[in-house]
Amino acid sequence: MRLLVVEDDRDLNRQISTALSNAGYAVDHAFDGEEGHFLGDTEPYDAVILDVGLPKLDGIAVLERWRRDGRVMPVLILTARDRWSDKVEGFDAGADDYVPKPFHMEEILARVRALLRRATGHATSELTYGPVTLDTRSSRVVVDGAAVKLTSHEYRLLSYLMHHQGRVVSRSELVEHLYDQDFDRDSNTIEVFVGRLRRKLGVDVIQTVRGLGYLCEPPGGAPAA
Ligand code: CA
Repeated sequence: MRLLVVEDDRDLNRQISTALSNAGYAVDHAFDGEEGHFLGDTEPYDAVILDVGLPKLDGIAVLERWRRDGRVMPVLILTARDRWSDKVEGFDAGADDYVPKPFHMEEILARVRALLRRATGHATSELTYGPVTLDTRSSRVVVDGAAVKLTSHEYRLLSYLMHHQGRVVSRSELVEHLYDQDFDRDSNTIEVFVGRLRRKLGVDVIQTVRGLGYLCEPPGGAPAA
């Protein structure tokens, strides 16, 4: 899952970005409204954390432009604590959630998890597919009750496929959603990661759909409820 953090306070931006990347997300950041608007307009983010008070273009205007142009990714706005009008304007402009400043980083992480699972049609933080369980709170993966140790890229790949289970995901979509913009992207590495994941999981829950991409499906059957 790939996220964008738009926050002009550089320290705060770095803290949020670091916490999110430690939690297993690919993260891009922007420090003003124009840069943030451009990135959100041109890159396919799974969710955005958007400060309301931004230089060049304020957060509400950024959000209005995205929505007007059909950008539907979930957006969490950061508001000033005593500005109730920020929240009202934010929701009316198309925000999905808000966190008032100052906040605990855990709250941002929990709200991002909730936005991502809702956007992909899941109701809990723990995703299950066949014998595989992926806990988005702890970034842990368990197969048949045994923990499996994954690298951050392997985890991101599995997490993306499990969030979108039952749907064929192309290699180019994976490249766009697993790496931040500074990463040297090469779609061939996806195949390598899929191979490693299959070996580590020990069960074939990732199917290759020739010419189209990958499909997360448990061996021999329909998805678990
Ligand atoms: Ca600000």
